[in-house]
Amino acid sequence: MIPYLDLKAQYEQVGTEIEAAVVNALRSTRYALGPDVEKFEEDFAAFSNTKYAVAVSSGTSALHLALLAAGVKEGDEVITVPMTFIATVASVHYIGAKPILIDVDPDTYTMNPDNIEAAITSKTKAILPVHLYGQCAQMDKILEIGKKHNIPVIEDAAQAHGAEFNGQRAGSMGLAGCFSFYAGKNLGACGEAGAITTNSEEIAKKLRILRDWGSEKKYDHKYVGFNYRMDGVQGAALGVKLKYLEEWTEKRIVVGKLYSELLKDSGLKLPIPANNNRHVYHIYPVMHPDRDRLQAALTEKDIQSGLHYPIPAHLTEAYSFLGYKAGDFPVAERIAKEELSLPVYAEMPLENVEIVAAALKEII
Ligand SMILES: *Cc1c(COP(=O)(O)O)cnc(C)c1O
Repeated sequence: MIPYLDLKAQYEQVGTEIEAAVVNALRSTRYALGPDVEKFEEDFAAFSNTKYAVAVSSGTSALHLALLAAGVKEGDEVITVPMTFIATVASVHYIGAKPILIDVDPDTYTMNPDNIEAAITSKTKAILPVHLYGQCAQMDKILEIGKKHNIPVIEDAAQAHGAEFNGQRAGSMGLAGCFSFYAGKNLGACGEAGAITTNSEEIAKKLRILRDWGSEKKYDHKYVGFNYRMDGVQGAALGVKLKYLEEWTEKRIVVGKLYSELLKDSGLKLPIPANNNRHVYHIYPVMHPDRDRLQAALTEKDIQSGLHYPIPAHLTEAYSFLGYKAGDFPVAERIAKEELSLPVYAEMPLENVEIVAAALKEII
């Protein structure tokens, strides 16, 4: 069987080191935040080339707090995309703000900057592009529009640890960048965790207050805050793994490039890293009109695959109240029907990449 992801392969490499760090964290009894989390914040800020990183309990809480820190309030509007994991849209709704969806680009699958200006109203308080599959959105154009209209840009970088746009790291370009360390992400905790990166001292300070019940001084609650602290144990585990992230990212890129080489004449539409982008292949997405048949045939051959995402946010039952309908976002809807995610992880044996590619070509 060829797995979609193999977390055990990674654990074999770093498990002993993680166990030592975690035991140390447990014995210290610093269970919420604490020194391991602070050290991880420093290291993750350095990795992302930002001044600050604020550790939180998940990628979703990172998005929720970043939007709040940027000043988004009930009744405001936030421009984002329908082709993403649902957390992006949910985080806007948690505030009581309205997610205004715009379609994505047919080649990069990320927010199409040409659609932004038509969606801006007097209520627009943030633009929230998603660095989907491991590739940064077209940040130059998005930031330019944000600047022109004085609207902050928040990056959903949950799939893009270490990705780059024109040499700039994911999470370092907007007012804030939101990361998830869910186990299956390019950097995964041993449970739930997330972080927000920023170059703004003011935003970092506000985020630290918001994640810990809105109080700077104990029991003196300045804002309506949250229990969004990162566990000490997760900080310890992430601190170990972060040292390997660059090496793991390079290995993912080798896997991604090998797929692209082997599948170039296969009839599949392959991910095209836009000029000057460092695609970190959180997902290796291929597109084919007969996607479901392809996936079934791969399963038949004992090759796992994934779909990201088969129902775009605007067509989910949960968000039907937003009032969108089928046909509103043709590019996102087409991705939902045609996208197939091939196995990719740092430790993936290259012969397995060859087996998957050969199987796909045979099926097609
Ligand atoms: C995973 C993910 C999130 C949510 O992160 P959690 O840590 O699971 O809360 C948000 N946005 C995107 C694009 C994601 O892939």
